[in-house]
Amino acid sequence: MIKKADIVLFLVILITGLAVSVVSLGDSAEGDNVVVTVDNEVYGIYPLSEDRVIEVRQQGHTNNITIKDGVVSMTYSDCANQVCVNTRPIAKTNDSIVCLPNRVIVEITSDEGGEVDVITG
Ligand SMILES: [Zn+2]
Repeated sequence: MIKKADIVLFLVILITGLAVSVVSLGDSAEGDNVVVTVDNEVYGIYPLSEDRVIEVRQQGHTNNITIKDGVVSMTYSDCANQVCVNTRPIAKTNDSIVCLPNRVIVEITSDEGGEVDVITG
């Protein structure tokens, strides 16, 4: 015999599960923050939703990182190989642009990606 309460509980679990799935998909598609790391230390964290140019000056090197319309690109670097400047713009969680010579890493992260991963195992 299935009681009414059991059905309600089942529906609640189902709906909650769907909601979590939708949130997870959203997070993996659209990032929330742009994390700039210089020489393994966090230089700054910026919202992906706000347009800005981040000028990273360290140890005589300069990198300009541009956030525009939810897309991040390395618009200037004084490094020798220019690999970072030629990297295609990034917009999704876990995408990154790396400037090896200047030790600059630009990465897109999500606000709750880590927690969702723990919940879903
Ligand atoms: Zn570079």
